[in-house]
Amino acid sequence: MQRIYPVSLSPELYRTQEIHRQVVPETTCPACSQCDSLHRHGNYSRWVTCSLGQVISIIVARFLCLACRCTVSYLPSFALSYRLVNAQTVDAFLQGELQRDDVQRNQEILQTYRRRILVFAPVLIAAVGAGLGVAPPERPPVWDWIKKACGSLTAATRQLVISFRITLFRRYQCHRAPQTLC
Ligand SMILES: [Zn+2]
Repeated sequence: MQRIYPVSLSPELYRTQEIHRQVVPETTCPACSQCDSLHRHGNYSRWVTCSLGQVISIIVARFLCLACRCTVSYLPSFALSYRLVNAQTVDAFLQGELQRDDVQRNQEILQTYRRRILVFAPVLIAAVGAGLGVAPPERPPVWDWIKKACGSLTAATRQLVISFRITLFRRYQCHRAPQTLC
């Protein structure tokens, strides 16, 4: 399954400083709740845009639970599950900062993100309700509500996955309740 690992660095610093090597897994397995059962189990690479909007490759740390054999990967929080453009760039785009280089470079794909978020918004609102501590919006856009509740899209992404197993775009199997996954 996939977890969101809090990282305050940019994607390029995450890469050059090899932060994936420093990832510390949770003390209990998110799938079976066994203590101290997660052990390093290699890595995988994926693409994400950097703060200039260019596509770079990053490495994601992966662990194996020796108790239930579930693999757990820790996606850095600047990266969105199954989305190429990083969270800060998406955030800037949704806030109308269209002059930024990173936004301009990825404008077409960002338009598709916005459409997807708007289509999924009713499901997201129904799933989360007032669970973020702020009443859900009565009208779009949904990201203003998310930012008000969580402070940033990056923080929101992590909180949505941890608390509700959902993202702004859709539900993913990899975030589901562990017992249904492994
Ligand atoms: Zn386990």
